[in-house]
Amino acid sequence: MIVALLNQKGGVGKTTLALHLAGLWARQGRRVVVVDADPQGSALDWSQARGDTDCPRLFAVLGLSRDTLFREVPDLAAGADHVVIDGPPRIASLMRSALLAADLVLIPVQPSPLDGWASAEMLALLAEAQSFRPNLAARFVLNRCVGRTVIARETAAALEGQVPSLLRARIAQRVLYAEAIGQGRLAFEQDPDGPAARELAAFAASVASLAP
Ligand code: ADP
Ligand code: MG
Repeated sequence: MIVALLNQKGGVGKTTLALHLAGLWARQGRRVVVVDADPQGSALDWSQARGDTDCPRLFAVLGLSRDTLFREVPDLAAGADHVVIDGPPRIASLMRSALLAADLVLIPVQPSPLDGWASAEMLALLAEAQSFRPNLAARFVLNRCVGRTVIARETAAALEGQVPSLLRARIAQRVLYAEAIGQGRLAFEQDPDGPAARELAAFAASVASLAP
């Protein structure tokens, strides 16, 4: 499956979720490649930092922040079980190319009182891609949820009626995610039996269930 994490907003968790999803699948024995489509190269930075740890490599990260990404990805996908595309912020041409490559688009969003979870432009690009690729699936993913707060509940309620729909599995706000990524690690490596590992497993399973 080719999964793209896309949102023109920066800081919503595209890189965090892309690396954890890839890491979980790799640990389950799947062959995974991460495509870093963000010119800032955060996923590549993570991969470089990982080289200084004693952790297993798990998957390769390739930098491909080019509009021609959609032409490269099928060849990568032929040699892998899953390709995870860590999307760029704001660059419409790259976004379009990732939309051409993907089977599934995940749009990370944070609990927010405003309805600006994803820009109208991003949703228009998605709708355009789906008009000629009807099998292109998409889901919002609620990231950085803080317990039973009103704002988390209201965001989830507001997203219920949206197109695309909301993935049932959610990811909480946890310092562990930021710490692990900063050290070239993954949250489930730091705390294998903890709540992050559990919610990530549920997340990966619900994403896998959307395979075409
Ligand atoms: P994007 O790739 O969309 O720009 P990142 O994955 O880099 O977003 O996340 C932006 C910042 O938020 C990073 O500092 C990251 O560590 C932090 N972050 C992302 N998701 C979580 C989370 N669930 N809990 C805590 N911090 C998070
Ligand atoms: Mg990023």
